[in-house]
Amino acid sequence: MSTQTLSSTDRAEIISYDPSSGKELGRAKLMDALEVRAALTRARSAQPAWAALSYSERAKYILRAREIVLSQLEEISALVSRETGKPAPEAMSMEVVPTLDLMHYFANKSKTMLKARRIDIDQYGLMGRSSRIVYKPLGVIGIISPWNFPWATPLDEVVLALMAGNAAVVKPSELTPLTALKIGEVFKQANLPAGLLEIVTGDGSTGAALVESGVNKILFTGSVATGRRVAETAAALLTPVVLELGGKDPMIVLDDAKLENAARAAVWGAFCNSGQACASIERCYVHDSVAAQFIDLVVKETRALKQGQTTTDEIDVGAMTDERQLTIVESHINDAVSRGAQVLTGGHRPESAGGWFHEPTVMVNVDHSMQVMRDETFGPVLPIMTYKTDDEAVDLANDSIYGLTACVFTSNLKRGRELAKRIEAGTVMVNEVIYTHALAQTPWGGVKQSGYGRTHGRLGLLELVTPQHIHVNSVPSFPDVWWFRYTRDAADLFRGLAHRFTTGSVLSAIPLLPAMLRRLFKR
Ligand code: NAD
Repeated sequence: MSTQTLSSTDRAEIISYDPSSGKELGRAKLMDALEVRAALTRARSAQPAWAALSYSERAKYILRAREIVLSQLEEISALVSRETGKPAPEAMSMEVVPTLDLMHYFANKSKTMLKARRIDIDQYGLMGRSSRIVYKPLGVIGIISPWNFPWATPLDEVVLALMAGNAAVVKPSELTPLTALKIGEVFKQANLPAGLLEIVTGDGSTGAALVESGVNKILFTGSVATGRRVAETAAALLTPVVLELGGKDPMIVLDDAKLENAARAAVWGAFCNSGQACASIERCYVHDSVAAQFIDLVVKETRALKQGQTTTDEIDVGAMTDERQLTIVESHINDAVSRGAQVLTGGHRPESAGGWFHEPTVMVNVDHSMQVMRDETFGPVLPIMTYKTDDEAVDLANDSIYGLTACVFTSNLKRGRELAKRIEAGTVMVNEVIYTHALAQTPWGGVKQSGYGRTHGRLGLLELVTPQHIHVNSVPSFPDVWWFRYTRDAADLFRGLAHRFTTGSVLSAIPLLPAMLRRLFKR
């Protein structure tokens, strides 16, 4: 059994299951292309009136929704926990708390971030011209999201889209539709005008229909394979896309790192959300000289974790969300072991747990020929390799098709910052793991096959608007010197422009003034 589409006779519904017990949690509609297009039509007709509101009027709805989330904190965390298998306290700390912060941040700051900006146009400014950028909403944003952070990922993007003056149509993962429907319910309770936020539940076919529907931009979060398909379809329609894809995020532990804390960071970074974060620590490189001590600390910390059904607040690691992912984890471990890797702790599904659990697993004797060091495992597995020099550590970290986040642990912050710059990733943290997705203020996104474009921060907000350049000539009575008619004098002036005006130096351009004035007044 898995949280999947029903057989063809029942294709109108998807079922959401509790991955830690296998029990059905509820059902949602499997929407087809017609229903997706109807949602888009509702969003399109609601958007212009929304765009006409001021930022502070839009913010009122977001802040009202925020109050509703806060008043239902326990209920929402429990729902996310039941639908994903992650512990409820973790759903609260990793999903709900960051979204509360983000809602407040963008409600209050979007106006400043999207304020019209004057552009310095250099010598053209001296000729009475001025240029400004104003930011206009795009229209309707299509948001396609995965199951691993089913609350935070779509909700964050909805808040940014709305604050920028857009409407949003959200296609959540087929594994976590109930959490998405809850997002819709919260905004309904906040009296958001109808049509501005549409939730279209369904599977990949619903997602594909949304991509083909003609939304103005797509924010896609998910796997590389699906992201590629989405980008191909969007390219044919010239629909712009932001792609937040997979990761194989490396952690580098330098010889001067505070080892106890680095070990704790590695264990949380690899095993929170059962390793199903796009920014999970999927590879760890530790300096040879401290490797034995570090590995010992990691293993002790891992063995101390409590795993089980998330019925109490004291469970550290819950079930994995999807059985298919669990089998990928098993195949990566088997591949590594068959090539000589050693499992120090974990390595299996726990006996008698029921549900889709996998033990937190620490491995050594790994190398880059193994899937566990190359492909996204997306599960509770921490393979650790040693290295001898900083250059080697950087080469190993960069030896990947992915580049989402990375982290460096060191007591020397300057050394950490320098090393960070050499790593190919959208975010590199020094003495931190994973958590910057929770920072509303900072951009989130990857390089290489981890995707392109950004969500969060001002860069994320700018993805949701179109910059319009407004250029004004404040001396409307005179023709430009480059307009018709062309004469020998004009050609001489153009030569002068090429040699003098384009240097950017006013002094150099001054000798052109008489010829320019002649052309202005005597044409
Ligand atoms: P997925 O690619 O299978 O699905 C993602 C979404 O796309 C789902 O809603 C799915 O229904 C939809 N979809 C499937 N086929 C589609 C199609 N043809 N057209 C349009 N939509 C379609 O990914 P997943 O298994 O749900 O999520 C796990 C992946 O997401 C991992 O690779 C993980 O690294 C990545 N992820 C990335 C980030 C990030 O910020 N970079 C964050 C979270 C997860």
